[in-house]
This record gives sequence, structure tokens and C-alpha cells, in this order.
Amino acid sequence: METCIFCKIVAGEIPSKLVAETEHTIAFHDISPRQPVHVLVVPKSHHRDVVELSKHAPFELLDLVQLGNRVAEQLTNGSFRLQFNTGAEAGQTVFHAHGHILSGTPRGSVDAVPMSEDEALG
Ligand code: AMP
Ligand code: ZN
Repeated sequence: METCIFCKIVAGEIPSKLVAETEHTIAFHDISPRQPVHVLVVPKSHHRDVVELSKHAPFELLDLVQLGNRVAEQLTNGSFRLQFNTGAEAGQTVFHAHGHILSGTPRGSVDAVPMSEDEALG
């Protein structure tokens, strides 16, 4: 999609801080991180949200989750969330499917602060 910001990142038309990629998925740092680790895992093909991705490209969703697992393995101590905001009222602002890898316990951290309930839900 020409106007989609994540399609532009996938195409290299907008810069991003790349973390990892596969044939189907790209992982890059969120531009305004809400946790010490905040990486987006994004399918290279355009689908509005994770529901559409799961219907039309289930193998790409599997690839996205597996890349997210690898990113979390590299960047966290093993505790993390994979979050898919779906719909504007649930906080989705970019309508190109993506998962958030979020963690308050980066790999090697010693004094990790547990998440509050609000953060865990938000
Ligand atoms: P959501 O609110 O679930 O749709 O998530 C969209 C996320 O994309 C937000 O956390 C934004 O901070 C992030 N974001 C928006 N533009 C960029 C960008 N150019 N590079 C990296 N992350 C971005
Ligand atoms: Zn797109």
C-alpha cells in the first residue's frame, strides 16, 4: 500500500532501526519505546491487522511469532509480551499488522522492575 508507513519501512523508503528479518517478516525498534525492550515484528505483506493476517497468510503469522521469539531470546531475559493491538479502540494506530515485543527485563539486567497491572494490560 503506497501510503502505509510500515510498507514504506519494509521497502526501505523510511529508515528504521532493524533488529532482524526473514523472507516474510521484519523486526525493528519502536520509535517511541514504552518498555526497555520494545521491538515491532511486522509482516512484509500488507494486512490491516493480525486477524486479517491470520486469515490470509497464516504461515506469515507463524513466521512473525517465531522471529519475535528469536528477538526476545536475544534481547530479554526470557520474560516478555507479544501484543497485537487490533482496532482503533484497542489502541491500534498503524493499520498494517504488527506485534509488539515488550519486556521490562532486558537480557543481562539485574534489578528488573516487574510490570504494574496497568502496564501489563496496556
Ligand atoms: P499500534 O499502536 O499497536 O498500532 O502500534 C504502532 C506502533 O508503531 C507505535 O508503538 C509507534 O510508536 C510505532 N511507530 C510508528 N511509526 C514508527 C516508525 N516510523 N518507526 C518505528 N516505529 C513506529
Ligand atoms: Zn502496509
